[in-house]
Amino acid sequence: MKIGILGAGQLGRMMAISGYPLNHQFGFSGHSNDEPSALLGHMFALENNADNIESLAAFADVITYESENTDVEIVRELNKDIPVYPGEKSLFTTQHRGREKALFDKLNIPCAPYKMVNTLNDLRQAVSQIGLPAILKTATEGYDGKGQFLMRSEDQLQEAFDSMNGVESILEGFVNFKRELSLIAVRGIDDDHKYYPLVENTHHDGILRLTIAPAQAIDPKVQKIAEHYMQILLDEMDHVGVLTIELFETDSGLVVNEMAPRVHNSGHWSIEGANTSQFENHIRAITGMPLGDTSPVHNFSAMINIIGELGPTDIALKMANAHLHLYDKSERKNRKLGHINIIANSQEELDNSIKQLKDFLPK
Ligand code: AMP
Repeated sequence: MKIGILGAGQLGRMMAISGYPLNHQFGFSGHSNDEPSALLGHMFALENNADNIESLAAFADVITYESENTDVEIVRELNKDIPVYPGEKSLFTTQHRGREKALFDKLNIPCAPYKMVNTLNDLRQAVSQIGLPAILKTATEGYDGKGQFLMRSEDQLQEAFDSMNGVESILEGFVNFKRELSLIAVRGIDDDHKYYPLVENTHHDGILRLTIAPAQAIDPKVQKIAEHYMQILLDEMDHVGVLTIELFETDSGLVVNEMAPRVHNSGHWSIEGANTSQFENHIRAITGMPLGDTSPVHNFSAMINIIGELGPTDIALKMANAHLHLYDKSERKNRKLGHINIIANSQEELDNSIKQLKDFLPK
């Protein structure tokens, strides 16, 4: 099939790399021919975005996207002629933190207490109801911890409010978590569901730096609870493709933070670490192919992000159990340039391998 991807970043690039062996072809709509996907298919990067989308639609049998910030209007328009997966409901819900949280509430999925904030007075009232510390976040467009303000005292009301630059925001109660986890699943057009194991994520300055897969010492009951939350979300949104949920592990159980209607950075380990990668499974799902097995191939996997500068990538190339994935991007502060996947048979081997790659991790 001809697959059109809205966006041309590293996620599109890795989807295409996984989709070619299945005889699919790819087209991307992007901003420039320098983007990470540009050499991997037909690139529609015209000056006018509307022309890009039209050319992509003429090319494609099915459309998907790289980001929850994709314009819903565009998806609705495209969907009149071509299937777009995940569908409008998944996109509309996940691109707004308030709508996402309202869905968690409706489905009795635990999440942090929250209040929507449009005015300084809203914020004052939200703080009095939720208490401090709390995090003020923009309702839309936030990623990698951007658009967030951690409030510790009421003296910060004005400063926090001003930092949102007048856009709608949401105040969330601070969750005292032990670890951050994520769950990735895929649902096919025929309603088949498959789940990857929960993974453990470590962030620095709001950016994911390290994923350990599977997360260590997870009670099988906890995996089942996470899968239950996932299943009711997939079904409620009639989601087709990969869906990711980010969770906090707390003393009183799992608390869902947010979700993304797409392949996710915390699933990159699956390229070498699982029988079928998240990218291949997303492509299989949206093209109506049977879903692939999601089991890990090795006892332990890890993914280290390469952020800002490329660094000593030869170290990874010389390791038998490391796999380097670069995205063809130039160096820039905080930019995701690539990642290194590690596979290991023992905890010791995993720890030693991560140590060898310590230059890629924050001090
Ligand atoms: P987000 O953009 O919602 O994924 O938030 C970025 C990071 O901020 C998360 O990965 C957490 O480390 C932290 N964070 C977000 N929301 C909360 C919360 N309600 N309580 C505690 N930490 C949070």
